[in-house]
Amino acid sequence: MCPDHDHAHPIAVNVSDSAEPGPAPAANLIEELVISNHILFDQGVVDAFGHVSVRHNARPDHFLLARNMAPGRVTPADVVEFTLDGEAVNAGGRKVYLERFIHGEIYRKRPDVMAVVHSHSHAIVPLSVVKGVRLQAIFHMAGFVGQGAPVFEIREAGGDATDLLISNNHLGRALADKFVGHDIVLMRGHGSTVVGSSLPQAVYRAVYAEINARYQLQASLLGEVTYLTEGESRTCIQNVEGQVQRPWDLWVEQARAKRSVQHTKS
Ligand SMILES: [Zn+2]
Repeated sequence: MCPDHDHAHPIAVNVSDSAEPGPAPAANLIEELVISNHILFDQGVVDAFGHVSVRHNARPDHFLLARNMAPGRVTPADVVEFTLDGEAVNAGGRKVYLERFIHGEIYRKRPDVMAVVHSHSHAIVPLSVVKGVRLQAIFHMAGFVGQGAPVFEIREAGGDATDLLISNNHLGRALADKFVGHDIVLMRGHGSTVVGSSLPQAVYRAVYAEINARYQLQASLLGEVTYLTEGESRTCIQNVEGQVQRPWDLWVEQARAKRSVQHTKS
């Protein structure tokens, strides 16, 4: 961190509840968000950092995101409602994620997006920093990656002395602009953000983007790589990603089983 600079800020922040509460979100949406946090941890997409959000079912100008904590530990009581500006409705004095602006600005930019995953998953980061190399769809599970995922360069919007975090709406908007025509954006020296039309789809994409990145690194060590064409990507999104419920049901079952065992032991 850089405490001597004007732009220094903690990564967990206190906010006052400045937005008016409206209709409560559906209980099953909160449950789905909680289990998404657990799955992303179980699948190695997030560790103690990273976050997942969902658009409010009754208020499209609000979204739900856990308070500042490790995703693997989130419970329904930890879910906080925010406006697209990142103002909290019911934080109640609890610390929230600094980078909530990623979520709000993407929901504003892309009305079709219902869920957002931000992570620093391990194989993605190298692909965010090498000049002339882009993350590209390499296998049928990851058609959504496309033929060259954009890389967000924070220096263009925030100068050359940031901590690389999306710490305000200005930076959030600059990132969200990259999502026009793309469902995954890499963030240089930081990680990636993936969007979907539901939590299961966004989680699926975050998991398979990481696997795609790993395969791309491995394949390029072996020799020249053949990537999916645009047409193959499109067909795979329709046919393979259409099966998102299959891995989702498995992951949900695993996440529940794992945590019920832990509860029994404690
Ligand atoms: Zn981050």
